[in-house]
Amino acid sequence: MSLLTATFTYAAGLLTYTWFGAGSFGWLITLWVVLAFLVLLNLDALRIRFVSRPFLRTYRRMLPSMSQTEKDALEAGTVWWDGELFTGGPNWEKLMAAAAPRLSAEEQAFLDGPCEELCRMVDDWDITHRRADLPPHIWDYLKSKGFFAMIIPKKYGGLEFSAYAHSCVLVKLSSRSGVVASTVAVPNSLGPGELLLHYGTDEQRNHYLPRLARGEEVPCFALTGPRAGSDAGSIPDTGVVCKGMYEGREIVGIRLNFDKRYITLAPVATVIGLAFKLLDPDKLLGDRTDYGITCALIPRNTAGVSIGRRHFPLNNPFQNGPLHGKDVFVPLDVLIGGMKMAGQGWRMLVEQLSVGRCISLPSSATGAAKAAVFASGAYARIRRQFNTSVGNFEGVAELLARMTGHTYIMDAARSVTAGAIDGGEKPSVPAAMLKYHATEMARSVGNDAMDVHGGKGICLGPKNYLGRGYQMVPVAITVEGANVLTRSLIIFGQGAIRCHPFVLKEMEAARDKDKRRGVKEFDKALFGHIGFTISNAVRSLVMALTLARFSRVPESSTQRYFQHINRFSASFAFATDVAMLSLGGYLKKKESLSARLGDVLSSMYLASMVLKHYHNQGQPEEDLPLVEWACRSLLYRAQEQLHTFLRNFPIRFLAAFMRFFIFPRGQTYHAPSDPLGQRVVDAILHPTALRDRATHGIYRTVEPGNPLGLLHEALVLADTAEPLEKRIRVDGVKTGRITALDLPGQIQQALAAGILSETEAAVLRDYDRRVMDLIHVDDFDTSDLAAGAAREDVRLARVGNA
Ligand SMILES: Cc1cc2nc3c(=O)[nH]c(=O)nc-3n(C[C@H](O)[C@H](O)[C@H](O)COP(=O)(O)OP(=O)(O)OC[C@H]3O[C@@H](n4cnc5c(N)ncnc54)[C@H](O)[C@@H]3O)c2cc1C
Repeated sequence: MSLLTATFTYAAGLLTYTWFGAGSFGWLITLWVVLAFLVLLNLDALRIRFVSRPFLRTYRRMLPSMSQTEKDALEAGTVWWDGELFTGGPNWEKLMAAAAPRLSAEEQAFLDGPCEELCRMVDDWDITHRRADLPPHIWDYLKSKGFFAMIIPKKYGGLEFSAYAHSCVLVKLSSRSGVVASTVAVPNSLGPGELLLHYGTDEQRNHYLPRLARGEEVPCFALTGPRAGSDAGSIPDTGVVCKGMYEGREIVGIRLNFDKRYITLAPVATVIGLAFKLLDPDKLLGDRTDYGITCALIPRNTAGVSIGRRHFPLNNPFQNGPLHGKDVFVPLDVLIGGMKMAGQGWRMLVEQLSVGRCISLPSSATGAAKAAVFASGAYARIRRQFNTSVGNFEGVAELLARMTGHTYIMDAARSVTAGAIDGGEKPSVPAAMLKYHATEMARSVGNDAMDVHGGKGICLGPKNYLGRGYQMVPVAITVEGANVLTRSLIIFGQGAIRCHPFVLKEMEAARDKDKRRGVKEFDKALFGHIGFTISNAVRSLVMALTLARFSRVPESSTQRYFQHINRFSASFAFATDVAMLSLGGYLKKKESLSARLGDVLSSMYLASMVLKHYHNQGQPEEDLPLVEWACRSLLYRAQEQLHTFLRNFPIRFLAAFMRFFIFPRGQTYHAPSDPLGQRVVDAILHPTALRDRATHGIYRTVEPGNPLGLLHEALVLADTAEPLEKRIRVDGVKTGRITALDLPGQIQQALAAGILSETEAAVLRDYDRRVMDLIHVDDFDTSDLAAGAAREDVRLARVGNA
C-alpha cells in the first residue's frame, strides 16, 4: 500500500471510529495526532527534510563496507524465483507458467548412445585403485564424442546442449563414476571454454573453441593458491607488463609469477586458464598501474610453467594438481577478451559461476544420490536379517525415506533450475543455494546409504558401489565456493541485496554522488520499503493465525504447501527487513543469523522447485507421498530456522516483536510423520513407478559389471522368491520338516518334502545365488593392497618368510 493510500484508509477508519467508536478522549486525540503525522509525511518537502535526509545519514554509516569484488559478485546474474520469495507474496502463476525442461531428440540420443556406452566402458575400481587415472581409451572416447564440448556452439564443432541436457549427462555419469563425472564436468563449467564464449575475441574463439570441441586441447582453470582459497579475490599472483623477448623479437608483454594448487585437469591440461593481478608499474599500456584480477590463456609448454604433478583427492583420482609459473613471459594477446577485459577477471568469473554452479555439482550430486537410493532400496529388500528384509525395520526405513526425499528435492531443484537457465535466466542466488544444498543433501544420502548397507558399504573393492561416492562428498562440498562460506555469507547476503525489492535501490541511492538525486531516490525507496515491511508483518500475522488457509494459490492436491510457502515468505520478508534495518552492516558479521535466514530462503526455494517439478511431471498420484515428505521436511526446516534465528537475535525486544507477528500460535508446522515416510519406503523397496521416476536417468542397465542393474534385477525377482521363502519357513522350518540352517539346504529339503516344486526350487536357488553374489564383498592378498614400490616389498617379505 502506498503512503497516500494508507493515509486515506487510516483517515476513513478513524472517522468511522470517531463517529461510532467508544474510548477515552485522550485515546481519540492520540489517533488524530497519528493522522496529522501521516498527512505531514505525504508532503514531499517536509518528509524528505525531517525523515528521509536524517535517516539517510544514519543509513550511510550502517551500510556494510563493500569491496569491488563483492560488488561484482552482487551484481552478477539475474533475479528469478528467489526474488519472488523476497516479496512475501510469490507470484505462483509465473513459476507454474514456466516451460518444463525438455531434451531434444539429439540430446536424448546422446544420453542413450555415447553416454550409455561410456558408462558401460567404465571400470571404476580400475580407475580409482589400480590406475589412478582414466584408461587411454576412455580419454579418447570422451574427447572424440564431444563430452568436453557440451557448452560449445555447433558452429565451433561443439554439441551446444541445453543446460538441462548437460545436467542429465552429469546425472548419468556420476551414477557410474565420480572420477568420470568430474573429468567431464570441469571443461563444461567455469573455465576457458565458457570464458572464451562470453568474453573472448573472435580470433581467440576461432582458434581455441574448435580445438577444445575436438578434444585437441584439454583446458583447466587456475584461480586458487596456497594463500588464497575462499578469499579468491586476494590472490597474490601477478602479471607485470614489461618489455621482453618473444619468438625472437622484443615486444610489450606480461611477466607472470604464480603459485596455484588444487587445479582440476591441470596435470593433463594443454591450455591453462589463469587468474592473476595485472600490474603496469611503468604505465606501458596507459595511465593505470593496477588493473586488478585478469584472466589469460597460457599454453602448457610456455617456458617457466611447471605443471604435471598431482594431488590425490580422497581416493577419487581425477586429474588435479598444483601449477607454478616463474617469470613466464607471454604476449598481451593471451588476455581473454584482449586488453579491454584487463581487470575484469573477477566479474567474468562470478558472472559465469551463476550458471555453472547450478549445473555441475548439483547434477553430479543428484546422480550419485539417485544411484545410492536405487541401490539402497534394492539392497534393503534383498538383504535379510532376523528373517525379514532389513528395509522392513523402522530404523532402516527412516533412513530410506530421508534418502529418497532428499534425492527428490535435489532432482527437482536441478531440473527446474536448469529449465530456467534454458529460458534465459542466470540465477546467481539459486546457484549458491543449489550448490550448497545439493552437496549437503548428497552428504546426508551418502551417510544414510552407508548405514543401510552396513559392512557391504565399507569394504572397498570392485564389488563396492558406495565407497568412492562417499569419499567424493567432501570434494563437492569444498569446490566452487566451500559450503560453510556459501551458507554463511553468500545465500542470504547476496540474496538480501540482490533480490530484495528495495534494498539495492536504497543502497544505490545512498551511494549516489549526486546528493540531491540520491536523497530523492532514497526517500522513494525508503517509504516503499516501510509499506512493504508493514504489509508483510500483517500478512505474516494473519497467515500464522489462520495457518495460511485462505491464502490464494494454484488449486491442486498440493495447495496447502503453496500456502505454507506464502506464509513463510511473508514472515521471512518481515524478519529480513527488521534484521537489516536494526543490525545494518553488523548482520554481515553475524554469520549464524545470516546463515539461518539463508536456510529459510533455501527451504522455500527448494519446496517451490519440488511443487513445480511435480507439476512438470503431470502430478502422478503415486508420487504424492514423496512430494509431501519433501515439502514437509523443507517447510519444517524453514520454521525451525526462523525460530532459531529469533532465539539468537541480539536485540531481544525486537526478537519478541518479530515473534508476535511470526509465531503468534507457536511452532505449528510438523515434520513428516512416520507413516508418510513408510509410504515412500514401500515404493522404494518394490519395483514401482515411483522408484523409477525418483531415480530416473541413472545408469541401470542390467549387465555383469553394473551392480545397480543387478540389484534391481534381484529386487524384481524378490517378488517371486519371498513367498517361496515364506512357505519354507511356515510349512517347513516351523513344523520341523526342514532342519537345514542355510537357504540352499532348506531348498533341497523343501523339494524332497514336496513344499516346493522343481521349478520353484530352481527359481529360489537362482535368486539366492544372485543375492549372495550381490551381498559378497571383496577380499585381497596384502600385496594387492600395498601401493607401488611397497607392493614389491610385501611380495619379497612373503617369499623370505616362506
Ligand atoms: C579437489 C579440488 C578441486 C578444485 N579445483 C579447482 C580448480 O579447478 N580451479 C581452482 O581455481 N580452484 C579449485 N579448487 C579450489 C577450491 O575452489 C577451494 O578449495 C575452495 O575455494 C576453498 O578454499 P580452501 O580449500 O583454501 O579453504 P579455505 O579458504 O582455507 O577455507 C576453510 C574453511 O573456512 C570456511 N570459510 C572461509 N572463509 C569463510 C567465511 N568468511 N565465513 C565462513 N566460512 C568461511 C570455508 O568454507 C572452509 O570451510 C579445488 C579444490 C579441490 C579440493
